[in-house]
Amino acid sequence: MIKDHLEGLLRKVERPGRYIGGEWNAVIKNPARAKMKIALAFPDVYEIGMSYLGQKILYAVLNRHPDLLAERVFAPWPDMEQRLRSAGLPIFSLENKIPLREFDLIGFSLLYELNYSNILTILDLAGIPFFARERGNDVPLVIAGGPAAFNPEPVADLFDAFFIGDGEEGFLEAVLKLQKLRQTGAGREEMLRALAALHGFYVPCFSPTHRLQETGLEVRLPPEQGLWPIRKRILSSLDSGRFPEKIVVPDIEAVFDRVALEIARGCPQRCRFCQATNIYFPFRIMSPEFAVAKACRSLASTGYEDVSFSALSIGDYPFLEPTAAELMSILSPPKISLSLSSLRPSGLSSGLTESILRVRKTGLTIVPEAGTDRLRAVINKNLNHREIMEAARLAFESGWRLLKLYFMIGLPTETQVDLEGIVDLVREIVELGRTVIKMPPQINLSLSSFIPKPHTPFQWLGMEREDVLEEKQRFVRSGLRRQRSVRVKVQPTPVSILEGVFSRGDRKLGSVLVQAWKRGARFDSWRDRFSFSAWREAFAAEGLEEKNYLGPLDTEARLPWDHIESGIHKEFLIAELERAMRGERTPSCLEMSCLDCQGCATGVRPKKRLARGNEAAVPGRKIGRSGAARTERAETILSSAFGEKIDHLVRYEMIYAKTGTARYLSHRDLTSHLKRAFRRAGIEIAFSTGFHPTMLVSYAPALALGMEGKAERLEFKSAREFDPPRFLRRLNRFLRQGIRITGLRRLADAEPPLNKRIVGMVFSLPLDSEEVKQALAARKKSQGAVSQDDGDFLRREMEAALEKAGESGIQFWVEKKKRRLFFRLPEPSRSGLRPRDLVSSVLGLEEPNFDLTREGFILTNPPSGEKEAVPPPS
Ligand code: SF4
Repeated sequence: MIKDHLEGLLRKVERPGRYIGGEWNAVIKNPARAKMKIALAFPDVYEIGMSYLGQKILYAVLNRHPDLLAERVFAPWPDMEQRLRSAGLPIFSLENKIPLREFDLIGFSLLYELNYSNILTILDLAGIPFFARERGNDVPLVIAGGPAAFNPEPVADLFDAFFIGDGEEGFLEAVLKLQKLRQTGAGREEMLRALAALHGFYVPCFSPTHRLQETGLEVRLPPEQGLWPIRKRILSSLDSGRFPEKIVVPDIEAVFDRVALEIARGCPQRCRFCQATNIYFPFRIMSPEFAVAKACRSLASTGYEDVSFSALSIGDYPFLEPTAAELMSILSPPKISLSLSSLRPSGLSSGLTESILRVRKTGLTIVPEAGTDRLRAVINKNLNHREIMEAARLAFESGWRLLKLYFMIGLPTETQVDLEGIVDLVREIVELGRTVIKMPPQINLSLSSFIPKPHTPFQWLGMEREDVLEEKQRFVRSGLRRQRSVRVKVQPTPVSILEGVFSRGDRKLGSVLVQAWKRGARFDSWRDRFSFSAWREAFAAEGLEEKNYLGPLDTEARLPWDHIESGIHKEFLIAELERAMRGERTPSCLEMSCLDCQGCATGVRPKKRLARGNEAAVPGRKIGRSGAARTERAETILSSAFGEKIDHLVRYEMIYAKTGTARYLSHRDLTSHLKRAFRRAGIEIAFSTGFHPTMLVSYAPALALGMEGKAERLEFKSAREFDPPRFLRRLNRFLRQGIRITGLRRLADAEPPLNKRIVGMVFSLPLDSEEVKQALAARKKSQGAVSQDDGDFLRREMEAALEKAGESGIQFWVEKKKRRLFFRLPEPSRSGLRPRDLVSSVLGLEEPNFDLTREGFILTNPPSGEKEAVPPPS
């Protein structure tokens, strides 16, 4: 049903590629054969959701099971939401376009509190009641997991259950249990009881709430049966086959569009504001050999040109430098680059920068967090002024011209001196840059506001008032106003305030969320979409105030999230808070034999404590002989080159078709897809030289979004001899549906480049499509030409439209048999006439709602044997 309406929707929305699916490595199973259908829902737009590793891991884990089908759903952008509503259509999954309500289970990823309003949009468009208590047996179970689920209470009424911890560890087990129960005809309550009996699952409907007199906050009481408190599930080893290699490659650019290899989970540092260190505790690492092999296999299966080591604190991965060096020795010939997320300055070394810079220079971020060493001691940021400056020096000396710096304002005990410290530190880095690179470096400074987060030592502290935060932002901005190369980006304070409220909120906030959604709250994490007034009205409507959630809390008080155990004990958090107030540092887990925090009582310990700088002491864990075999295999995976090697570069012209839903990919998206397909197929394309080597591919003029192309052209250079039929067979295996290579030709040296050979293009309009038939009938009526033959009418209107546009000599004709209007336009640089505008004018349409096809190109000297694209009738 959805498939029948999809075209009509896609034509009218911005970035239709968000909704088409069919990406490389997407898993399309037969829904009729699945014993359990799971929708993995992400409450943000496709480009954000496709950057999230957690969903990719679950997608792979679930789809590996023959009885299960897992498909993806993302929040529709407001234009699509409105189109779905006006067409009366439900939200659907990307793979099989299944309406969301037809799934057995919906699993939401909760990453960020400001995505909560989008959960309601998804539920509403699915026809699923907002509140779990209103759902019957005919409605899928709705479960949530992810970092924000560590305080589930603000959204506890929306979900049937929450999963706490590492998804790979317990989610599959739960799904299989539910599947068995389903086969026996079990109802909703029985299934929820089964989940409540599983370690890591929280089922809110079984736990009564209790309002505390002292704080006014609502907390949860233990259920009559089931496990309590809720302990997170922990994956004991990252060296398992669970980490997916066949990652879905988004066809429109995602925010993080690369292979993200999670080489470590958890963080051994103990920054006191940081929730991630506690909820992802303990620190676990992937072995270097496994990491290298995984990276290579993922790159081979995706065709990505960039791999990133992903971890909360990359610099604490004990084998970082040798792993990066080993990997880059494999990846630099095929020009694949390595980037590192979140490197602490002390982790930056010349060996490492050499690896990062080997192919192309990726961004570098330094995160001082605070302006002075004193405040960094309070927050336990294991970093000092000297280390920051040394890292900046190394970065400039290694060739970086742009640095990203992250700071927070409103931190506990912050004074004016600390704010001045931010300004001074940035100025000092700029000065250093001037000295080293002889020009002012570009500094992108990100200034966010401190938010006390649950499960941290600062969870009991208050958040700074909005006006105070704004004053502090102004101070830093004005202190850096004269630094023209410094760009300051601040998080709007109302957004931070709302995040603060929902981070430490209780169950009462569920109704505020619904009220705000009804008042239009959507995509609240998007600056241009955020409406604080909708939220303020919602709070007022529910008789609540934001400030009730932002003040300090007593360490003795029960907290709304106390029933969720991160594995770090409250006594340790309190002791850490006290140390913070005394300005005392706590060493990282790597520096201590034991922190005595009892966190390790979670039952999972890192297999071996790894002291930084002492990695060689861990037997068999360094990339050595045992790893060499695996690394060799990895090299083989990446070097499966196709075609005979020759000693010089030659030019090829490739012809391909872009049809079906692939026409909703922009030109830029298409070029990424093709380049990645070349890599997947092992087809070596030559690269440009310089800091940012790119494939030597040039394209014919871009095809407009939504337009089909039957004989598109591109030209590339390669030092390989290709046999065209084999080339076509090979490359076509690595392309998405809708893109097909139809020809390959080696170009003679004397042949001019593609852009010099194209003199015109042939387009066609199908006269049989419903939209065109309707538009034509309306146009004929308005022109008093109802009885005129369609062909004759179109010819008359075309002549009039061309005359109005001042274009002469443009050929057009109607082929009655094919029921198509054809026309030839000069190559775009020689004419300003756009085919869509011309047809819109002919049909008298304000908004084009028809499909055009580019049939092909008219070339100056077409190669012998090649037919001209749709010649006009003689
Ligand atoms: S380094 Fe600090 S801020 Fe970063 S993840 Fe670790 S504990 Fe958190």
